[in-house]
Amino acid sequence: MIEIDGSEGEGGGQVVRNSCALSLVTGKPFRITQVRAKRSKPGLMRQHVTAVEAAARIGGAEVIGAAVGSDTLEFRPGAVQPGEYRFAVGTAGSTSLVLQTVLMPLVLAGGPSRLVLEGGTHNMLAPPFDFIERTFLPIVNRMGPTVEARLIRHGFYPRGGGRIEVDVTPAPLTAIDCLDCGEMGEGTAQVLFTGLPAEIAQRMIARLRKDLPYWPDEAFTIRELPADQGPGVILMIEARKAHVTEIASGFGQLGVPAERLAKTAAGRLKGYVASGAFAGPYLADQLVLPFALAAGGSFTTVKPSGHLLTAMALAERFLERPVVLEQDAQGRHLVRFV
Ligand code: AMP
Repeated sequence: MIEIDGSEGEGGGQVVRNSCALSLVTGKPFRITQVRAKRSKPGLMRQHVTAVEAAARIGGAEVIGAAVGSDTLEFRPGAVQPGEYRFAVGTAGSTSLVLQTVLMPLVLAGGPSRLVLEGGTHNMLAPPFDFIERTFLPIVNRMGPTVEARLIRHGFYPRGGGRIEVDVTPAPLTAIDCLDCGEMGEGTAQVLFTGLPAEIAQRMIARLRKDLPYWPDEAFTIRELPADQGPGVILMIEARKAHVTEIASGFGQLGVPAERLAKTAAGRLKGYVASGAFAGPYLADQLVLPFALAAGGSFTTVKPSGHLLTAMALAERFLERPVVLEQDAQGRHLVRFV
């Protein structure tokens, strides 16, 4: 039984999700105490319970403590069964985070799977669907498997109601090195909104034009979604390089001016592009699972986040292989899997 102190490191939901994924792949049971102790509402929230239940269902696991508010979770994995699954996060919890929990076990399973995930698709503190589709999955697919994700309906906090579908064709994960981003291609900035005044989206774009003055007019778009998919607003700025796409996002929040969200997201994207690193702060922690399971490979990244360091430490515990962080002369950080 692997004993995990959920208050260590980042101390968030990622510890729960990654533990489930690693447990299903390795067959090792685990117990987490002090679940999400560093969050303002500690313990499991609805979306974490859905993620644990999803992991238990695909992997025939026995689980103790999978309830909202629980601060202890015990998980004993069985055998992973590929197939057709539907998981609904009861609130607008993130479908992307549920996907991350079950994806690697299904990618390494003995047959194809199809998933339907319902809940939020563009949630704060989680990867927006576009990030999963264009930033994360292309790297996973380069490692061997074929994973295709489709957005059927948007879902924003707090209403949810979004739907994504994912097809997984499994394959062993091969180690790859992601050091070179390739030539800079196009950049685009898109605001999606519904059920809110169009002026919010226009103000975001106006601010982005100031912050990204060399981008052509056609790089900036506004898309109004059907009213029943909202209310909500998100801006996504995308830098496409030949070997990797980074998406910086800003989630509409009551009380946060549209201009400030736009300025922050533009600053993040520019910082990423200037760093020359392959993985931005979020992609880096999300790549730990596939790379650790491939037992090799490496990627460069921007300054390591708490999520990255926590994901590395957890992978080392389950897989008993080192994950090494080094810094090169240009200040880029290299994460190397052994
Ligand atoms: P946690 O805070 O432990 O629940 O983990 C949040 C997860 O969501 C991490 O894997 C982050 O990389 C990811 N994440 C949070 N915000 C974003 C974002 N704006 N874009 C992409 N991924 C994100």
